[in-house]
Amino acid sequence: MDVHEYQAKELLARFNVPVPAGGLAYSPEQAAYRARELGGDAWVIKAQVHAGGRGKAGGVKLCRDRHEVWQAADGMLGHTLVTNQTGPAGKGVYRLLVEAGQNIARELYLGFVLDREHERIVIVGSDQGGMEIEEIARQHPESMHRRLVDPSVGLPAFQARDLAFALGFRGGEIAQAIKVIQGAYRAFRDLDATMVEINPLVVTQEGNVLVLDCKMQVDDNALYRRPEVADMRDRSQEDPRETHAVDRGLSYVGLDGQIGCIVNGAGLAMATLDMIKLAGGEPANFLDIGGGATPERVAEAFQLVRQDGEVKAILVNIFAGINRCDWVAQGIVQAVEQTGLDLPLVVRLSGTHVEEGRRILADSGLAITTAATLKEAAQKAVAALDGQSAAHTEVPA
Ligand code: GDP
Ligand code: MN
Repeated sequence: MDVHEYQAKELLARFNVPVPAGGLAYSPEQAAYRARELGGDAWVIKAQVHAGGRGKAGGVKLCRDRHEVWQAADGMLGHTLVTNQTGPAGKGVYRLLVEAGQNIARELYLGFVLDREHERIVIVGSDQGGMEIEEIARQHPESMHRRLVDPSVGLPAFQARDLAFALGFRGGEIAQAIKVIQGAYRAFRDLDATMVEINPLVVTQEGNVLVLDCKMQVDDNALYRRPEVADMRDRSQEDPRETHAVDRGLSYVGLDGQIGCIVNGAGLAMATLDMIKLAGGEPANFLDIGGGATPERVAEAFQLVRQDGEVKAILVNIFAGINRCDWVAQGIVQAVEQTGLDLPLVVRLSGTHVEEGRRILADSGLAITTAATLKEAAQKAVAALDGQSAAHTEVPA
């Protein structure tokens, strides 16, 4: 789960990591009020969306008076922000962070992620902050410093100090940098985060070290024991298709192609996506109905997959163990009879009660294409999508 920048800062502050003074606003009036409350003569208005790249997209505005604050807030709230990380649809802006403007002397990068190869939390730092980490890696690879943290020891002060030196902190900045590095590490560990990215970490002209921006991701599977983090969920920032499915106990993943997939089990889903690609097609999504799906659940899954505007054909691939092919078939027939079928539909059933399942589909009189194997099903789905290109596509055995 992603959290907003202001929430990530709130969490970091609990671990004594310094962040700029700021407050949340839901209206331009509230933003102007926040600015007055903060005092000073410069404020930064920041769109709160689950994506970075806001600076270049107009989602971060430096303002010099309260009228500018009001206008910047009015220009963002209720609008959609498209950045290089939101995808073309963008994200809705419904909350703003109003912060005291900082006089930036230097911008650095500090990231915490899981290194699965080493089975450690890895800290990545660079004195070239403010740009994306991929860009830093391309343009200034020599500036990147990596430190693996031994989980049995944690992050001792000497290791944080060593990193602070490598990043060019000097004099009075060092103790502050250590506070940030150790605090962010503890936040990562104690909140079950999978990513904490501070970009930029800044040194102000007054010599203060502050977290100016932070992105945080938390492990979904740990939310049950982090209720204070779970409460930070913002549905307005999620893919509505995925939220809809989760609420119904189905797991849905949205993709960019044209073939909608209904499968049972994540492994089978992966195999189905691979086979569609091999056959020359692109999956639009996949919906995992899981084990023991009733006809009603299958019908719901069907509706969800169809609702996706990009879907031009549907492929159902069921390898039934706990599931029953007859129930899946009933669900499909139910869904199609309720709403009509305006898309090509290819169904491959295998396993428990397969004969009964096939009979239900055949007896329904609906225009359903059946397939005996996954390979055949993928080819037929792609062919249904685009007869011409599929005619030349041969899937290797
Ligand atoms: P992102 O583009 O979504 O990553 O948003 P950031 O919060 O990182 O802001 C982008 C850039 O805006 C930063 O790298 C800074 O250069 C600039 N910025 C943000 N806050 C301030 C501030 O208080 N003062 C100044 N001068 N610049 C700021
Ligand atoms: Mn940033």
